[in-house]
Amino acid sequence: MPTQPPATVLLYNTGTRRVEALNPTESGRVRLYACGPTVYKHAHIGNLRTYVFEDVLVRMLGRAGYAVTHVMNVTDVGHLQSDADEGEDKMALSARQEQRSPWDIARHYESEFFRHAALLNIRRPHIVCRATEHIDEMVAMVRTLQDKGFAYESGGNVYFDIAKFPAYADFAGLRLEDLAPTERVEEDARKRQQADFVLWFSQSKFPNQVMQWDSPWGRGFPGWHIECSAMAGKYLGEHVDIHCGGVDHVRVHHTNEIAQSECCFGHRWVGHWFHCDFLELDRGKMSKSSGDMLTVDSLTARGLDPLAFRYLVLTSHYRGSLRFSFDAMESAARSYAGMRRRVDELRAACGGDGSALHLAQADPQRVDAHAQAFNEALLHDLRTPMALAVVWAVLKDDSLAPALKLALVLDFDGVLGLGLDACTTASDADTRSEGEADEVAALQTARAAARAARDWAEADRLRALLLALGADVRDGKG
Ligand SMILES: [Zn+2]
Repeated sequence: MPTQPPATVLLYNTGTRRVEALNPTESGRVRLYACGPTVYKHAHIGNLRTYVFEDVLVRMLGRAGYAVTHVMNVTDVGHLQSDADEGEDKMALSARQEQRSPWDIARHYESEFFRHAALLNIRRPHIVCRATEHIDEMVAMVRTLQDKGFAYESGGNVYFDIAKFPAYADFAGLRLEDLAPTERVEEDARKRQQADFVLWFSQSKFPNQVMQWDSPWGRGFPGWHIECSAMAGKYLGEHVDIHCGGVDHVRVHHTNEIAQSECCFGHRWVGHWFHCDFLELDRGKMSKSSGDMLTVDSLTARGLDPLAFRYLVLTSHYRGSLRFSFDAMESAARSYAGMRRRVDELRAACGGDGSALHLAQADPQRVDAHAQAFNEALLHDLRTPMALAVVWAVLKDDSLAPALKLALVLDFDGVLGLGLDACTTASDADTRSEGEADEVAALQTARAAARAARDWAEADRLRALLLALGADVRDGKG
């Protein structure tokens, strides 16, 4: 097979605040680390939005010609409610509420996370690593930091000394004076500076912690941040090409990961920082209580296809926030169903399975124009809304033969992951056509009533809806 160099990939880098060309340490290979879920409850769809984009990023890198190693951690050791070193242990709290052991809680919600991810067509990372199975690596890293003078033991805990890492505030553009204790955060007398963070707890505020391990500093458990540095180091080595996470990790978690890793390794650690912005609930349309509990299961309970949520996510750019409401969700679901229907029609036009497809036989210029637009959309800072627009442009391009359209769309879907390769099952199709037949019948009845009442505006509105459903609207005499 001829080996072509990978395509140039441009991505925004939080580290430099610029869109920059990806420049991996080893040519042709990308070492990618993503902060994974904390498994003490179901993942909110807002968190899953980040994993959808990471999945598209990994697929895009593969299409661009890179061999990718995608590592993701699972935080299954209890960590505190706050990013800082305070609050109650989330896993222990959940365990108490559900009357299960923290270990059961962690395994249960880990498998739930991957079940939900699979429903969103998020591919499992190549390496998934649990914090509880890497305590030795964390202890070793903390020891190195202590040996090198970047960490100190105090009152049974080990703290990272941020004064020893002058670049500490740079990544997030922090002002150290803002990190002083506030009314909300209690002063910790064991820390040299209040912004120092815990690497190992032997003396936590919660003496009944179930998850504990022996360490050189006593029996205890790791601070949260150290797990990512230790596991990324184990599986990817001392250089990470792309480090991903939610934008909420920038100020504390990723700032601390950088401090630990760069002080341990003695050099710059991450090439590109890829951060996804928030999903925001449309507070005008959704109550806090209904919004805060939103999971993939709450979508399916409303009859929404999880992949329609993936579609909605892709209509936004990863660096912008997405305003969520069920209205927005239902509108995305209609667009997504329309896309699937067109793909199904193409499949039917090509004789079912589309096995006789040959991109090479088509007009190369038209094919190239679409493929180029699609590649440019994604290679230039993962602009998924533009990539979706290219899919629609192909579906609506009447100069292309059905077999060609289908081949192009399925090729694109290898990156977008909208499940267009799977035939809509017969039962789905039946249900949908029955549902549509019902809708058409209801609209026809309403329109007849409007005409009878000589409400022409309403009749026209209903006519437009009927035409959108593909119904034949002809009015007989009278
Ligand atoms: Zn992390």
